[in-house]
Amino acid sequence: MSANQSSDIARACSECTACCDGWLRITVRGQDVSPGNPCRFSVAHKCSIYQDRPVDPCQQFICGWLADNSPLPEWMRPDKANLILLASNFQWRGVPVHVAVAVGARPKEKAINWLKEFCRQSQRPLIFQTDGEWIAYGPPQFQTEMAERLSSGRNPWT
Ligand code: SF4
Ligand code: SF4
Repeated sequence: MSANQSSDIARACSECTACCDGWLRITVRGQDVSPGNPCRFSVAHKCSIYQDRPVDPCQQFICGWLADNSPLPEWMRPDKANLILLASNFQWRGVPVHVAVAVGARPKEKAINWLKEFCRQSQRPLIFQTDGEWIAYGPPQFQTEMAERLSSGRNPWT
């Protein structure tokens, strides 16, 4: 979405268009983009209106892999890892929670295992999406609260 070409950010989206292709629910020029319903401007792994793409959400969005000083390794680019990390997406008891949105049916197992270990070491809870469900990873109380939110029809971050 944001093919960041700033000199102080080493990474660029290149041919990744994971956030344009419906895995994140966004609205682009009045079109709802959702799973199975990619942005109509995403053509052959490129944004066909790149110079004129909307500021919100396109220019403003930077995923956890693209972010400056991202801890994610190169191979975790969203279209390769099958997940988009939204780092510190919300807080649980004052602790930032990472959210990993699936690209396709489910993230690659290697990527989820890497993310779990990273979250364990950094003591950040994690919510990740797989096969259409949200899975909570972290302290037992966190898992319980997330399960309660989900069972009552809420999103984990509300
Ligand atoms: S998911 Fe990240 S790397 Fe991929 S296009 Fe979006 S911002 Fe760029
Ligand atoms: S307008 Fe371009 S950058 Fe924005 S979602 Fe569509 S393809 Fe991606």
